[in-house]
Amino acid sequence: MTTELKPCPFCGEKVVSVQEICNGFNQTVCWEFSCGNRSCGVKTNIYIKDRDMAIAAWNNKRAAQEEKI
Ligand SMILES: [Zn+2]
Repeated sequence: MTTELKPCPFCGEKVVSVQEICNGFNQTVCWEFSCGNRSCGVKTNIYIKDRDMAIAAWNNKRAAQEEKI
């Protein structure tokens, strides 16, 4: 089962792309989340090995943002 990727926490854009970025020096795996909305352009790097966990962290970011409003 794939963890559902929630919309951008900043603008609500549903098109969010996830890209794996691997750092060859220390084998750090990073997931780059980028918002598909050009006027928003948010890019977030989350340093978690597991893709589903990174997505969960992105989803939590959105939840935290909603709490502030
Ligand atoms: Zn956005």
